[in-house]
Amino acid sequence: MSGQHFAPIFFERGKRGKHRLKFALRDLELAVILLALDMKKTIRDIDLRGKRALVRVDYNVPIDEATGKITDDSRIRETLPTLQYLLDAGAGIVLLTHFGRPKGQVVESLRVRFIASYLQDMIKRDVHYATHAVGLEADAQVRSVAPGQILLLENTRFYPGEEANDPAFAAALAAPGYDLYVNDAFGAAHRAHASTEGMARFIKAEGKPCVAGLLMARELEFLGQLLHNPARPFVAILGGVKVSDKIGVIRNLLPKVDTLLVGGAMAYAFESAMGRPVGTSYFKEADAPVAAELIELAREKGYDFRLPSDFLVADRDAADARVEHVPEGMIPLNMMGMDIGSETIASYSAIIERAKTVLWNGPMGRFEVKPFSRGTLEVAKAVARATDKGALTIIGGGDSAAAVKQMDLDDRMSHVSTGGGASLEFLEGQELPGVAVLDDKVS
Ligand code: ADP
Ligand code: MG
Repeated sequence: MSGQHFAPIFFERGKRGKHRLKFALRDLELAVILLALDMKKTIRDIDLRGKRALVRVDYNVPIDEATGKITDDSRIRETLPTLQYLLDAGAGIVLLTHFGRPKGQVVESLRVRFIASYLQDMIKRDVHYATHAVGLEADAQVRSVAPGQILLLENTRFYPGEEANDPAFAAALAAPGYDLYVNDAFGAAHRAHASTEGMARFIKAEGKPCVAGLLMARELEFLGQLLHNPARPFVAILGGVKVSDKIGVIRNLLPKVDTLLVGGAMAYAFESAMGRPVGTSYFKEADAPVAAELIELAREKGYDFRLPSDFLVADRDAADARVEHVPEGMIPLNMMGMDIGSETIASYSAIIERAKTVLWNGPMGRFEVKPFSRGTLEVAKAVARATDKGALTIIGGGDSAAAVKQMDLDDRMSHVSTGGGASLEFLEGQELPGVAVLDDKVS
């Protein structure tokens, strides 16, 4: 649809000369985004009967270090519709995932056997496990997968070729011969690795389809709505600690949102850029110039960009710390900002509840420690109330998603993204390599 829709606009505007060309390019940019969204083929678009599918999933689940148990299984659970769809349609499934950071070598504690048994309990059918991802033994196991069967190959990151996107390793992954490649690993789609990108090229070169799984399609659809024609007012809430990672997102979102609310440790980069004291708050000097640039941009263009008007500060990062409530600009030298204050909670909540589209990425404070969880909890409640009133509400970011789940509010959000880094890069307007490689709907 976008190809037909956008080409005439481009032509018409392009005709009017240089001045208009800029707008035409923006349309083109939008067309590219749309292509990445609606235009990718999914498993619903192809014939699956009797086919053997390689399905790249992101089962890089968080583990409790003490017990070794999975603390949040949503990355597994959310692929079940894709797996069930493939099985019901008569396909056999070979799963591929990375897990942890073994850095290109075999680390016994990072074998994915336990994920195979976890999935087996969940999906209530046998899930076989291969102790290798490539090689003669793995290839034979793959070739024996019949329709209705599931095999999980070993951790892709045991091989140095994975993260290097080494063509030889990608070719080895594709070697057993697959009838199709399915990418359902949204959380890993921003990385051009052998299993997310390289091997898809080999499968494609054999004339076989490369398509999105249902989770991937849902992620692209929800996140895409933020970039393309969101219902207004569109409010973005950004917080957390990864300031430098998120500055690109702010830059891209500022012109698109009606209001941008900043909280979490991110706020101190902006406070500092404005010459206000940040005490011992989490803050990196290197972030200040970019923060200053964004403040200037917002001022110049009149964007509605808000910083907290008050903070909760503490003498240290601990549950029994001495806590004070201070207005902005008044953070004492020896104290650290740990949460947004009650005034900010009230003003942010009011803005959020009036929104028709909400994106939230990054907690408002150090929510894991009880005295500093209130800002995050209250903002989560406000977002939930916005959903109740009909807004489209999307949570991105691993810790934000964990916070919302911990507060049992995840069911009251329209969509909780499974991809932290991937959702950020997507919202920066970047094309994700693991998506780009998939077949377009109209070609
Ligand atoms: P996400 O994973 O949602 O993208 P980040 O990884 O950027 O979010 O940041 C999450 C972390 O930020 C949480 O562990 C939280 O404790 C921390 N955080 C938020 N505000 C503060 C603060 N004021 N001081 C220290 N840490 C903070
Ligand atoms: Mg995080």
